[in-house]
Amino acid sequence: MNVADSERVSSALEHLGYEYSPVIEDADVIVLNTCVVRQSAEDKAYGRLTSLLPVKRKRPEVVINLMGCLVGIKDNAPLRKRFPYVDVFSPPSDPSPLVEYLLQREAYSAEQAETARRYAVMDGDLLLPHNADAQPVIGWIPVVYGCSHACAYCIIPYRRGVEKSRPPEEIIKEARSLAAQGVKEITLLGQIVDRYGIDEPSYPRLEGLLRQLSEIEGIERLRFLTSHPNWMTDELLRAVAELPKVMPHIEIPNQAGDDQVLKNMRRGYTVDQYRRLVWKIRERIPGVSIATDIIVGFPGETEEQFQHTYDLLAELKLDVAHLARYSPRAGTLSERTMPDDVPASEKWRRFRALEKLQENIVREIHASYLDKTVPILFEEKIKKRWKGRTPTNKIVFVESDADLRGQILDVKIIRTGPWSMLGELA
Ligand code: SAH
Repeated sequence: MNVADSERVSSALEHLGYEYSPVIEDADVIVLNTCVVRQSAEDKAYGRLTSLLPVKRKRPEVVINLMGCLVGIKDNAPLRKRFPYVDVFSPPSDPSPLVEYLLQREAYSAEQAETARRYAVMDGDLLLPHNADAQPVIGWIPVVYGCSHACAYCIIPYRRGVEKSRPPEEIIKEARSLAAQGVKEITLLGQIVDRYGIDEPSYPRLEGLLRQLSEIEGIERLRFLTSHPNWMTDELLRAVAELPKVMPHIEIPNQAGDDQVLKNMRRGYTVDQYRRLVWKIRERIPGVSIATDIIVGFPGETEEQFQHTYDLLAELKLDVAHLARYSPRAGTLSERTMPDDVPASEKWRRFRALEKLQENIVREIHASYLDKTVPILFEEKIKKRWKGRTPTNKIVFVESDADLRGQILDVKIIRTGPWSMLGELA
C-alpha cells in the first residue's frame, strides 16, 4: 500500500514538471512516506525524519513532505510542533496537500520554476529511496482505501480512515494508463480487498472488477491483496480459477492458530473455518499458492496457544508466512485493555520457531518446482541476473545478457532454495 502511495505522489510531482533524483541531497522536494503498523516501522520513520534535519538546515529552500500513517487523518498538531522543519503533512494515499503547497509556492517564486526541479521519495519503513528511473513492469492500484474492521491490535483504521471503495471507472482508467506505460502486471490493493464494492452497491464486486481489468490489452497478470477469511467468496474463487490473467495466488492472513487468541484479536472466524477455507481454495484453484500473516505474542497468548499456531502452520504448509511480533499500538483495543504480557525474549523465541518451521516448509514446496517449466514475468536485472516471478508469486532468477524486462518466458527451474529459485530460459 505504501509503495502504491509513493508511486502516486511521484507521478503527481512528475505532472508538475519535477524530475526524479536518485540522490536525496540533490532534491528540491523530499517526500518521506511512513508506516506505523508496528513500533519498529514507526521508529524507522522517526529516524529518517531526524536525518532530514541537516538537509533542511543546509538548504532551507528544500520542501520536506511527511506523508502516510505517521501523519494519519486526524489533527497532527503535535507532529507539527515536534518537527517544525517539515513543510507539508499529508495523510496516506493523498498527494494533494503537497501539490497545493508547491503550486502556491511557485506562484510567488518565478525563479524557482525556471530551474530544473527534482524530487525524491523515501519509504520510512523500507529505508529505500523510491526509484522512479526504472521502467516499471509491476503496478499497484489501491481499490479500497481505509478499513472499517476493528482487529484489536491494528492501528490502520485509525490512520487510514473508514473503508471506501474507489469508482471502477477510475481504477480502469489508471490500469489503462499503467498498461500504456508498459506495465504488465497489476496488483489491486485493499486492507480487505475482497470487500471491494460492498460500501457502494452500484459498483461491481472484486470478481467483476477483475473481469473488466482482464480485458485491458497489455496487462498480462492481475493479483489482489489482502483478503480476509470472512469475505472470500465462491464467486471470487471462481473468477481466479477462470480468468487466465488472474494469478493463482491468495494472500489470506489467519494471524493465529488458536480460537481464543483469534477471539481476543476480534478476527471473526475460528481456526477450523480458516482450515476449511484453505482446503476450498486449494480445491477450486489447482496449483494455487497461499500466503498468511501471523502475529506471535499477542496479549495473553500462552505457550499452548502458540503451539496451536505452530501446529496449524505445520499442517497447512502454506507458501508464505509473514511473521510479526505483537507490538502495542497506541489507541487500539488491545493496547488499551490487554497488558502486553508476553516478554520480548519469548516473542522472539516463538517468532524464530515459526520462522524455522516455515523455512523448511517453503524449501520443500520450492523443491517440487525442480525441473519444471514455468512462465516467468521478468521485472528487473539485479547484477547479472534477471529477476522474475512465477504465476504463484515465487521469485526466480535467470542469467541472461538479453533484455528480458517485461517479457513472460518459459523457464526451466534448475535450482531451488527457501528464498528463491534459479532457472534457465527453456
Ligand atoms: N489489512 C491486512 C493487513 C494489515 S497490516 C489484514 O488484515 O490482513 C499487515 C500485517 O501486520 C497484519 O496482517 C498483521 O499480521 C501485522 N500487524 C498489524 N498490527 C500489528 C501489531 N500491532 N503488532 C504486530 N503485527 C501487526
